[in-house]
Amino acid sequence: MKVVKEDNIVKKNIRRTDLKVALCYPNQYRIGMSCLALHYIYNLFNSYENVVCERFFLENTFSLESQLPLSKFDIIAFTLQFELDYINMFKILINSKIPVDRQKRNTSHPIIIAGGPCVMENPLPLSNFIDIFFIGEAEVLVPKFIERALSLKNIKRDFLDFSSITGLYLPEVGNKTKRVWVENIDDAFYPTIQVLTRMYDKSTKPIFSNSFLLEISRGCGRGCRFCISGYIYRPPRYRSIKKIEKIIDEAIENHKINKIILVGTSASDHPKFKEICELILSKGLFFSTPSLRIDVLDEDIISFLLKGSQKTITIAPESGSNFLRTLINKPIPNSLILNVAKLFQRNNVPSLKMYFMVGLPNESIKDIEAINAISSKILENFKGLLKLSVNPLIPKPYTPMQWVPYISRKEYLKKTKILKPLKSKKISISIGSWSMGCLEHILSLGTSELSELLSTNILASNLVNWQSLIGWLRLNIHDYSRMLTVNINENPLFNIIDNGISIDFLKAEYYKMTLALFTQPCPSTCSSCGVCN
Ligand code: SF4
Repeated sequence: MKVVKEDNIVKKNIRRTDLKVALCYPNQYRIGMSCLALHYIYNLFNSYENVVCERFFLENTFSLESQLPLSKFDIIAFTLQFELDYINMFKILINSKIPVDRQKRNTSHPIIIAGGPCVMENPLPLSNFIDIFFIGEAEVLVPKFIERALSLKNIKRDFLDFSSITGLYLPEVGNKTKRVWVENIDDAFYPTIQVLTRMYDKSTKPIFSNSFLLEISRGCGRGCRFCISGYIYRPPRYRSIKKIEKIIDEAIENHKINKIILVGTSASDHPKFKEICELILSKGLFFSTPSLRIDVLDEDIISFLLKGSQKTITIAPESGSNFLRTLINKPIPNSLILNVAKLFQRNNVPSLKMYFMVGLPNESIKDIEAINAISSKILENFKGLLKLSVNPLIPKPYTPMQWVPYISRKEYLKKTKILKPLKSKKISISIGSWSMGCLEHILSLGTSELSELLSTNILASNLVNWQSLIGWLRLNIHDYSRMLTVNINENPLFNIIDNGISIDFLKAEYYKMTLALFTQPCPSTCSSCGVCN
């Protein structure tokens, strides 16, 4: 990797520390540096005087801070944001000559830990490779982990001791555990000093360059039935405006930034969203936010976003059909989407991006044609750039969609073909890969048997790429995915990890979906999902 110049990196005298942590983001530097979780964990570990944490990405085999190899650290911590990054995790370990299989490691090797949304969703497909999984939020688990690590005489020999901490899952022990989370995010640690990339080329330029990442909310209570983030980050929590202002002031003091990126599972649902926008602008900063709820957009918010220098506004209608949106508990009518498009035109929004899914329950060809229809109607009113991102629905565990099968290749190709004519209407459209979606489905729902298969068939032959997994599964890839859906009620995941959501609630939501019944958003209306009990 080309040397990048960065501000705010933490450099410690590594010999004077008691615990050395290698923080690995299993993808490119430019992606990892735009992920708030990386900044959280880096600063949280480094906030302890006797602990040092240094960064690794897919491109570097030596730490960015001290140029140490991975094998010299006590702990290797992976943050897993996307299932398809698992292969990069294997590559990082193989390149550093660290056995990927945990059974092949011994006390001379670092302990490997992993956290992030993929781990909270389902750690079982990685159970052959990871020593300790973090099921929950870092602000709660990292301090407990450090305290225990520093109290152990020999962390590598005694690491099974970590199984007594609620929220940590150790496959070697097979302990049951519960997800843990921060009750009041105002009181939680926040990385008010973030590493900023100062000099970069095209390959190292972070997605959000010269920007400070500001999380204003966590969790979402809307209850969209397909959305894993809406379920694994419950309950919804909002940072107070007072705390947000304090963080912004510290960010200005600590960084040469001109922009704030507002982060949150559903940032625009923050009850003080408009005040937050005004506050940032009043401090002379630009801002943007990755995705917005269609039903909160109004003239004020659009004008704030444009003043904040946002060029593309991204919304997620998910489907072209009102009925299917009702099934997924996102009952936004097409009339509202068209009104919002008119608002965009009136305010000269340069570009609009829309996310759609194919493979929803009860979906017919007419529902796909409805995507064409709504996109064409939008173009009648909106003269900016229109971009569509279409992907297969990937049913995830701990959501009511876990009982829904992944769409077949034949059906996906047939349906997405219907969208092709949109290209001739000056709409840019990207269509996600069916195979990669199917792999993601398998990795989301898989059990430890999948971990075994990965270990014996893929890693043993050093075929470390997803194509080899697809090749190995050959035509069986979809059968395997179907089998996981059919057997979902027997999946051991639900006996091992108590995520807080009750299975009865998920079943009730599934049946409400079949009847197209709406569930009110929480916390204004509690639907007793089990989390706050
Ligand atoms: S228990 Fe009620 S308030 Fe708490 S997350 Fe579930 S639905 Fe929301």
